[in-house]
Amino acid sequence: MRLNLLPIALVLALLSACGTAVRNPVSGQTEMSAMSEEQEIAEGAKAHQQVLQEYSVYANKGVQDYVNALGQRLAAQSHRANLQWHFTVLDSPEINAFALPGGYVYVTRGIMAYMESEADLAGVIGHEIGHVTARHGAQRATSQQHAGLGVFAANVLGAVLESQGVGGAGQLANQLSQNVAAGYIASYGREQELQADGLGAEYLARNHYDPHNMVDVISVLKDQERYAADQARAEGKPAPTGGGWLASHPSNDQRLQQIKDRAAQYSKSTAYADDGRERYLKRIAGMAFGESAEQGLVRGRNFYHSALGIALTAPMGWHLQNSAAQLALLNPVGDAALLLKPVPAAAGKTHAEVIQNGFKPTQGKSEPTSINGLQATRFSGARQDAQGQTQALELTLVSGPGSKLYVLQQAAKDAATLQANRAPLREAETSFRAMTAQDKAAAKPWAIKLMPYPKGGFSELAKRSALPHAEQQLRLINGFYSGGEPKPAQLLKVVDPS
Ligand SMILES: [Zn+2]
Repeated sequence: MRLNLLPIALVLALLSACGTAVRNPVSGQTEMSAMSEEQEIAEGAKAHQQVLQEYSVYANKGVQDYVNALGQRLAAQSHRANLQWHFTVLDSPEINAFALPGGYVYVTRGIMAYMESEADLAGVIGHEIGHVTARHGAQRATSQQHAGLGVFAANVLGAVLESQGVGGAGQLANQLSQNVAAGYIASYGREQELQADGLGAEYLARNHYDPHNMVDVISVLKDQERYAADQARAEGKPAPTGGGWLASHPSNDQRLQQIKDRAAQYSKSTAYADDGRERYLKRIAGMAFGESAEQGLVRGRNFYHSALGIALTAPMGWHLQNSAAQLALLNPVGDAALLLKPVPAAAGKTHAEVIQNGFKPTQGKSEPTSINGLQATRFSGARQDAQGQTQALELTLVSGPGSKLYVLQQAAKDAATLQANRAPLREAETSFRAMTAQDKAAAKPWAIKLMPYPKGGFSELAKRSALPHAEQQLRLINGFYSGGEPKPAQLLKVVDPS
């Protein structure tokens, strides 16, 4: 788990900050820091606003209240009970959790789907509280300042400006710059992660949860890693190096061992309350799983965005990648793609304006056309990239439902690759459409439901599931990916159209 956002305002504020002697609440030692506690709180509050711009808060009061109450209980028993703590569930399918200095903790609904009990979730939250109580964010800010933060800030701002030039304007540029920033930030150090694990275990014990649940959380992560690697192997691809909070931990095996030792220390003397498994499952029943209708859904080769009323179909063998900034339809080799982006209003009102303002072509020609009854303009030409090199520019502007503008841009490794993929790129492009009745019926988001473990086991559950790799995925979300079977009639999570 890591702080995976770069609060730009925070970085800039630190440029002018001088070192202050601050007592570390966990170690009790005095350390030189770029931030006093007051600054930490103020910067946390500022960066929190940026998080809210980047992510939607999950619109489910029951789940938010539950997570906040659990977080407040854990924080009250932490090394910094004096802070005002904020716990927020983000509407994201990513498996992630992170914290900001000053007492802001976030978990995604994605990570919640994989936790099996209240105690597991308490382990995740306890770990994040540990990053805050041990002042890891402030420590990192301090070391970055020492390492020459000026260069760091300049790079990020450069990326922001460049993306505004390329992407048009407004919202689109924001999304791009945030992605650039998110990829730029370094994760916490190994020692800090291990310390946060240890603090998580300690806060579990102080709240009468068995600290071994911290071990469960790491096991869930490990299984997630194995599942991703198994899927990649099945598709003949190299194992993913991991993103999100899997990437931030050098060795989950080593982490697991350390946590086991730490948990054993606490387990000697304390009696634990129940792990809140049933309470937890009932609370997350009905929660969205995977992408939500607002984010657009990938179903097989199709992409549906109910809120915008648009759909696309990828050519046979191509993959769909849906992110906040764009939808990418990627060829099997991964060296050519069609990119779909909504055009921000500020980029222009007409197709010609958007092409001019958003892409600044140096040459080329436009041709009016129509795609599935929607008014479109095809542009073929060239522009200069950031290095001053001439590069091909192939794109189509479409007026979608409600006259909202979209750009479909062809992208490839080089000119020859673009040429070789001409036919499937065109096929992908011309699949753009206003959602049909059939599309609407297929565009049902998924939700978590509960079901007693049937006699026929996971294979029986899988038969009636809409998940693409149902048996493995159902094992994974229920903690049985590494083998083993639930007890007969044990309550399990399943995923069905909502
Ligand atoms: Zn962490």
